[in-house]
Amino acid sequence: MILKDAVEYLLGSIESTSAVEEISIVKSCGRILAENLKASQNIPPFDNSQVDGYAVKTSDINLSNLFSVSQRIPAGCPSSPLVNKTIARIFTGALIPKNADAVVMQEDVDLVNDRVRFSKKINPGQNIRKKGSDLKQDKVFFNTGRVLTAADVGMCASVGLNNLQVFEKISVGVFSSGDELKQPGENLSEGQIYDSNRPMILSLVNLLGLEPVDMGCLPDDLNQTTRLLAEASNKVDIILTCGGVSVGEEDHIKTAVETLGSIKMWKIKIKPGKPFAFGSIGNTPFLGVPGNPVSAWVTFALLCRPFLIKRAGGISLENTSLLLECNFEWPKSSNRQEFLRGKVNREGKLEIFNNQNSQILSSICFSEGLIEIPIDTVVRKGDKIKFFPFSEIS
Ligand code: AMP
Ligand code: MG
Repeated sequence: MILKDAVEYLLGSIESTSAVEEISIVKSCGRILAENLKASQNIPPFDNSQVDGYAVKTSDINLSNLFSVSQRIPAGCPSSPLVNKTIARIFTGALIPKNADAVVMQEDVDLVNDRVRFSKKINPGQNIRKKGSDLKQDKVFFNTGRVLTAADVGMCASVGLNNLQVFEKISVGVFSSGDELKQPGENLSEGQIYDSNRPMILSLVNLLGLEPVDMGCLPDDLNQTTRLLAEASNKVDIILTCGGVSVGEEDHIKTAVETLGSIKMWKIKIKPGKPFAFGSIGNTPFLGVPGNPVSAWVTFALLCRPFLIKRAGGISLENTSLLLECNFEWPKSSNRQEFLRGKVNREGKLEIFNNQNSQILSSICFSEGLIEIPIDTVVRKGDKIKFFPFSEIS
C-alpha cells in the first residue's frame, strides 16, 4: 500500500474522542480545542497609539505654527475630546482622544518651550491602531480541533478568556520489544544495546499533547507478548509497539495481535518504515512501528501522528512541504517512496545527511526535515523536490 492510501485508511478507521474537560488557559498550550471560540469584544478594544508622541487633528495642523499641548494621555487612562487647535501628549497603547485622527512620533517634532512644531506632512490615520484590527467582535477566531500554540493562548487571553474546553487527553501505551534491549542506567552485556525507541516515542506522544504511558519492553517470546498486549488493551486508549513487526522468526508482535484481534494493514511502500502495521486488540487500536530508530521516528511522524491527532479530537491537516532545489544526487530509484533526512543550506538548497541508514538516529538529530523522493524517481542536482520541515511533522 502506498503512504497516501495508508494515511487515508488510518483516518477512516477511527472516530474522534468526544470527552471534553475545562482547563485554565495557562495549561492549554499543546492541547486540542473542543469548542469554537468567538471574540466577545474587538481587539484592540479601542483606537490606540502605535508610538509615543502627539495626537492631532490633521485638518488643524499647518507646518509653520506652534501648538499647545492640552492634555496628557498615558496608556490605561481615559482621554477627553481634543480641544480645538491643540494637540495631546500620548503614549504607546493609550486611547486616542475623540476628534484626533493621527499621531506624530515624538522624534518627528520640534519642542519650542512647551509648544510643538511639526516638520513633516501628517497623514490622517498614521500611527493609529484601529479598534478591531486584530479581531472583530463576534468573529469565530478558533475552531474546534485546533492544536493550541503559545500565540493562540495569548490570543485567548486577549479576549479575556481564562478557561477553555479541550478534549481529554487520550492515553497511548508505548512498548518497545527485543531481547537485545537494556534500559538506560543498566549495564550492557555483549550483543546488547540500549532501548532508544521507547523514550523517543513516549516523547513524541507527549509533544502531541496526549498522555504517554510507558508499558515497558516486550520480550521476543510469543506467549508473553500476547499476554502483555492483552493486558495493555484494557488499560490504554491506543497501543503502540516498536519493533517485532518484520518477518523474522523473532518478530512476534504481529502474530500476537492476530491472535488477540486483527492486523488490518501491514507493509507500506515507504523507506524507511516498510514493516509498519496497524490493527486492533479487542476494541483498542494497535499501531506497530518498526524497530530501527529512524524507521520508528519516520513512521510515527507520517502514519501514527495524523491518526493520533484525529483520534484525540484534532484536525489532521495534510503535512506542509516546501518545494526546494536539491544540491545532491540520488541516482538509484526505488519502488518505495523514500524519506531522506536532510537540511536546507545557506543558498536555500537541500543537502542530505551523510548516512541514510535507518539505524542512524543522528540523521534525525542533525537534520531539519524529511526530503521526499517519489517512487521510481531519480534525483539530479537542481531538481526541485518536497521537503517536510520537522516542525510540521513532529
Ligand atoms: P526489529 O524490528 O525488532 O527486527 O528491530 C530492527 C532493528 O532495530 C534491530 O537492529 C533492533 O536491535 C533495533 N531496535 C529494535 N527496537 C529498538 C529500540 N527500542 N531501541 C533501539 N533499537 C531498537
Ligand atoms: Mg526485534
